[in-house]
Amino acid sequence: MARMALLVSPELCIGCRGCQSACKEWNGLPAVKTVNRGTFENPPDLTGADYNRIRFMEVPSAQDAQRWLFVSQRCMHCGDAACMKICPSSGALFRAKNGAVVFDKGKCIGCKLCGSACPYGLIRFDQANKVSKCHLCHDRTEAGLTPACVKTCPSGALKYGDRDKLAAEASAAGYSNLYGEADLGGTGVLYAFKDSPKVYGMLQNPAFPAEVHFWSGIKSLAYLGLGATVAASALHYLVIGPHKEEGEEVKKDE
Ligand code: SF4
Ligand code: SF4
Ligand code: SF4
Repeated sequence: MARMALLVSPELCIGCRGCQSACKEWNGLPAVKTVNRGTFENPPDLTGADYNRIRFMEVPSAQDAQRWLFVSQRCMHCGDAACMKICPSSGALFRAKNGAVVFDKGKCIGCKLCGSACPYGLIRFDQANKVSKCHLCHDRTEAGLTPACVKTCPSGALKYGDRDKLAAEASAAGYSNLYGEADLGGTGVLYAFKDSPKVYGMLQNPAFPAEVHFWSGIKSLAYLGLGATVAASALHYLVIGPHKEEGEEVKKDE
C-alpha cells in the first residue's frame, strides 16, 4: 500500500472546528470543560480527549489590519517515530499499513515515555494514563473510509490521500513550503504553507531528544540479551539434552 497522508492547508481553513467535533464524535471522546479565555480558540491544548484542535493565530499583514490563521494540530505520524522507538511495551504503538502511528491501549503500560520523546510534544494521555492521540482514523481508513475530520471539513482545508500525490498537488497549487515533507523520515501529516512555517507557529528543525537514543539502545540490548538467553537454552537442549529434576536422577541411580 502506498504511504498515505493528511494534507492541512491553513489558508483554506475557516476556523469552524467541525474537524474537532467530528473527531470527538467518531472516537467517542468525552467533553472537557474549558473557560472563556477571550479567544475563539478552544480547547487551549490537545488533551487525552481532544485528538485534534485548531490553533487560532492573529498575525500582522501588509494588506489587512490583521490576518487570521487557523492551523490544525494533531500527531504528525512521523516516518521515523520517536514515540515508537522509545516505547518499551511491544505493540502499544505500531505502524499501520497506510503509514499512520497507531496505539493499542490494551498494551500501553502508562509509563509516558512516548510523551517525553515526541519531538513535537503532541502525545497526551487519558484518565487511566494510557496513550491517547490522533490515529489517523485507523479504523475508518482500514474500512476504505476517509478520516472523520477530513470527511467533515467543508472547505477542503483537510485532505487525505496518497502522500506523493498530495505533495505534488500542494506544490502545483502554489504553496511554497510543504512542512513535514522531509522531517523525521517524512511526516504523515503535511502542511501547505504560503509563508515560512515560523509564521504558522510550527516547530523548526524537529529532532529526537537524547533520551530516545538512550532508551532505544537499552531496548536493543534487552532484546539482544533475551535472544542470547533463548539461543543458549536451545544449544543446551541440543548438546546436553532436556533438563532433569534432581529427583529424576536419584531415581535412575537407584
Ligand atoms: S508526532 Fe509525536 S506522537 Fe506523533 S508519531 Fe511523531 S513522535 Fe509519535
Ligand atoms: S484523523 Fe481521526 S483520530 Fe485523527 S484527528 Fe482526524 S478524526 Fe481524529
Ligand atoms: S473543519 Fe476544516 S474548515 Fe473547519 S476548522 Fe476544521 S480544518 Fe478548518
